[in-house]
Amino acid sequence: MAYQIPRGTADVFQEKSYSWQALEERLRQFCYLYNYDEIRTPIFEHTNVFKRENDSSDMVNKEMYTFTLPNSSTSLTLRPEGTAGTVRSFVENKMYANPDLPVKLYYMGPMFRHERPQKGRMRIFNQFGIECLGNKSPYTDVESIVLAFSILKSLGLKDIKVCLNTLGDDASRNAYREALKDYFKPYLEDLCSDCKRRYQQNPLRILDCKVDHDKEYMKHAPSMKDYLNEESKKYFDTVCQLLETLDIPYEVDDRLVRGLDYYSHTVFEIVSVNSSMGAQSTVLAGGRYDNLISYFGGPEGMSGIGWALGMERILLALEAEGIVLEEKPGLDAYVMCLDSQAQTYAFEILTQLRANGFRADMDYLQRGFKGQFKAVARSKAKFAILIGSNEMDSQEVSIKNIETQVQTTISRNEIIDFLDKEFD
Ligand code: ATP
Ligand code: MG
Repeated sequence: MAYQIPRGTADVFQEKSYSWQALEERLRQFCYLYNYDEIRTPIFEHTNVFKRENDSSDMVNKEMYTFTLPNSSTSLTLRPEGTAGTVRSFVENKMYANPDLPVKLYYMGPMFRHERPQKGRMRIFNQFGIECLGNKSPYTDVESIVLAFSILKSLGLKDIKVCLNTLGDDASRNAYREALKDYFKPYLEDLCSDCKRRYQQNPLRILDCKVDHDKEYMKHAPSMKDYLNEESKKYFDTVCQLLETLDIPYEVDDRLVRGLDYYSHTVFEIVSVNSSMGAQSTVLAGGRYDNLISYFGGPEGMSGIGWALGMERILLALEAEGIVLEEKPGLDAYVMCLDSQAQTYAFEILTQLRANGFRADMDYLQRGFKGQFKAVARSKAKFAILIGSNEMDSQEVSIKNIETQVQTTISRNEIIDFLDKEFD
């Protein structure tokens, strides 16, 4: 019987695991710099954490892995995104009472969505995201965008674009919703079945439809900016001005409505404009949410902002631009054991190397000299330590610098000093 990985999932191993670790490390470093702390929430939550009343998104309506265990009436869902669990925890743990708001959190880990797998679209994928909770200020909107942009730049990505829009406050968005309903009413029959649902639940999302996208009447739909009240306009203008002050390039895209229903005011995406990215070119997306914290039982009027990036998509974007984040590093030393009698002696030397912080390995296959030398080359070791029964008897080792090919014989007690000098 053959065993196969489920569709839309992936194994990460060998070389690739180093790019993943380098990416994770970089993300953590930036969070440290920006004073965001890590939060780890459960991989599954009660279904109602994600499935909120009347949510129109595909993610909630079609893509969730929801299950109930035998003899239980509790419905649980594998998390499809990170914001809901984070906000649930923020409220449940009364983080809103922190004297220093906003509370700034980041998370990293697998998300689960039952989607049609294709390049850049998986059923288990990893997101890294931040949430800045408990403060509403254009400065925190801009901080979160600067953080996103700086991370992607530091990874070396050049073909990226920041797209920005505002969905305004509740009053502006309600006015816009009504305008969209009026506008789309005559076309209702022509809209796809999802858009018919969106028309009822959240007509803004019709603008985001991948099926109806190119229809002529889509192009002439009302624009959010004509429905913004003064306050919402002012908020957005400040965000734009701050981005300009900090020299962050952006484009305003007034068709950008974002995938989740809870957004208000600033929404943004960062897309890769590299031609080999294909349809899945959005690498990062986020926005402000005015009503989510109170939805979970937190204080009324407390706002948050956050974004998430798809880690697989970032790695694809890096690949598209020919950027290698990290390769498997070579060994400091490879211990060659050339006589089975000396294996324990070699093993002791290996352990001594590691105890002193040298990245080292040895031959466990008792291969011949040639075979072991090939292994040294594959391991990209800087030094080969050759051990046979002669070395064992005299308590010495022969040590060869692979680059210079210079070989010396030294006493066992001198190995660490010798390497310390070489690696100085
Ligand atoms: P899309 O329009 O591509 O479906 P989305 O609006 O569903 O994206 P979000 O929920 O905003 O995406 O998630 C943020 C980021 O997570 C996306 O920009 C993308 O990089 C990544 N992402 C989302 N869904 C997937 C998936 N199925 N596979 C891989 N990455 C994904
Ligand atoms: Mg999606």
